Amino acid sequence: MSTPASAPAPPGLPSPRATARLARRIAEGEPPLGRARRVGRMLRELTATHVDAHCELDFTTPLELAVATILSAQSTDRGVNLVTPALFARYPTALDYAQADRAELEAAVRSTGFFRNKANSLIGLGAAVVERHGGELPSTLEELVELPGIGRKTANVILGNAFGVPGITVDTHFGRLVRRFGWTTEEDPVKVEHAVGPLIPKREWTMTSHRVIFHGRRVCHARKPACGACTLAADCPSFGLGPVDPEKAAALVKGPSRAFLLARAGITEDAAPAPALDDAP
Ligand code: SF4
Repeated sequence: MSTPASAPAPPGLPSPRATARLARRIAEGEPPLGRARRVGRMLRELTATHVDAHCELDFTTPLELAVATILSAQSTDRGVNLVTPALFARYPTALDYAQADRAELEAAVRSTGFFRNKANSLIGLGAAVVERHGGELPSTLEELVELPGIGRKTANVILGNAFGVPGITVDTHFGRLVRRFGWTTEEDPVKVEHAVGPLIPKREWTMTSHRVIFHGRRVCHARKPACGACTLAADCPSFGLGPVDPEKAAALVKGPSRAFLLARAGITEDAAPAPALDDAP
């Protein structure tokens, strides 16, 4: 593999001593200016690394995104995208979900798991949208979180991607990564959202969420992060949590843009064995 012309030189890997110094500085209370500069560098690197970041659920309307997001709980986006074309054709409006035959709807969403709960949520969502909002999905956080099946995370996904209102989506990837980045130590998703929000320009909240989630799915995995193939390594206090050897780390990098990710990390084809895991995000 050769480095694409559009991929500038990687920032390079830090020494264990430099990472330890950074981790110590963060643990002792990183000065605000230093933190702002470090986060700014990481945001720029995330933007350059995940140029293809986007909402991976297929939808054309706010209601479709709400339905897809409800179905994505405990399921992959890819699995949801397999069932939604037929679902959206069969149930185009909130009223259609409100009046759905429960058994038929359950069968339609069965492959996404927890199908009884999900069918329940969709029928409840349809009824509430019809009764309270005249059949149109509302566009405020306060109204969205009052609807069946829609929590704060889902509401932020809908706001950011269907209504263009900046929102931070704290899913399992986002929470894990921002703690590894040393951006916050909070565990509760709402506290994470409030801690991280001020570090990111508001207009960038939605896209930063996608980029961080992409990084979590493709590079910074829960069990074995690909530290030696990570473009954020120089500013990450958790560098070394996974393999730092570029060859071993390269084998952990996944996804359709794997070649570009490795090139940005300065890893050439000869040093990058085939991925050990499949490409599923
Ligand atoms: S892969 Fe390693 S270096 Fe990169 S963000 Fe995750 S923990 Fe930090």
